[in-house]
Amino acid sequence: MQKISVTYKLPEEGLRLLRRYDLKVNAEDRFLSKPELIDFAYNADALITLLSDQIDREVIERLENLKVIANYAVGFNNIDIVAAKERGVVVTNTPGVLTEATADLTMALILATTRRLVEGDRFVRRGLFDGWKPELLLGVSLKDRVLGIIGLGRIGKAVVQRAKAFGMKVVYHNRMPASKKEEKALSVEYKSLEDLLKLSDVVSVHVPLTKETRHLIGSSRLKLMKPTGVLINTSRGAVIDEQALIQFLRERRIFAAGLDVFENEPEIPYALRELDNVVLLPHLGSATRETRMEMALMVARNVIAVLNGKRPPNRVV
Ligand code: NAP
Repeated sequence: MQKISVTYKLPEEGLRLLRRYDLKVNAEDRFLSKPELIDFAYNADALITLLSDQIDREVIERLENLKVIANYAVGFNNIDIVAAKERGVVVTNTPGVLTEATADLTMALILATTRRLVEGDRFVRRGLFDGWKPELLLGVSLKDRVLGIIGLGRIGKAVVQRAKAFGMKVVYHNRMPASKKEEKALSVEYKSLEDLLKLSDVVSVHVPLTKETRHLIGSSRLKLMKPTGVLINTSRGAVIDEQALIQFLRERRIFAAGLDVFENEPEIPYALRELDNVVLLPHLGSATRETRMEMALMVARNVIAVLNGKRPPNRVV
């Protein structure tokens, strides 16, 4: 019987589809270290992974029976896809089903930062609220402000729809501009990365983490942002140089940041945690019950397809 190893417990809806195979699920509420993962998945035909599992060349080479790595995420920067391809191991992801949830969370971060929601909550809890005041915790209005989307893909486009409902104008940057027809339909305008940073009141990052996008936003690009600008990241932490961002936030050279992802997740520098002009979330982009269930069904279908010699619906390599 074909063996499937799952590195962390997933929603039952997905696991149920896999119970006709020899299914092994890490039942402990903790991540596996690399040696533990190799040991756990030894002889597996299929491996289901989280983005916190580093599936490097060594892991791929040690798991000799492996036919498929099904990542429970749309991003797959945790997997050495070159090594997987060389060994003929299929890699799959979960695109699309988490788009709306992640766009909702991006909007939540835009509102939380521009309207200082978390600061306000802390203020109330500390017992400091002694009445309505004309200039208490003033933020930034969204209407007629410019939103700059870096990475106008599935999630970037879903954020555009939401931002338009708030009356924002949207500019975007991709490596290649979208078609004129699509730009018109979304009512967005293409800009160079530099112009986007200079123009935008809110910058929201939606690119995948690749060699090209690591530290895409560092000191020299943060310098281009308005001092009233807000930076939102729900993509991957390392797309932004976190140390540079800390410096800019500390020196109030930008207004605020909203971060769902971190450079060395789950480690978050104390220097970031002590700032009050940043909202920090524990990677909640796709964290709705419905979305996580859909993602579990998607990984299960990808695994079943490969184990039956078929092309999986969401093949990366
Ligand atoms: P997608 O549809 O592939 O969109 C990515 C966009 O980034 C594309 O439009 C792509 O356009 C652009 N891009 C790629 N490289 C670029 C570069 N070097 N410079 C500028 N633009 C670039 O992906 P998606 O589904 O929207 O997801 C985006 C990312 O969000 C994922 O990779 C994942 O890391 C992250 N994510 C996070 C969460 C969370 O929980 N916080 C949830 C879901 C996804 P071009 O190829 O034309 O440049």
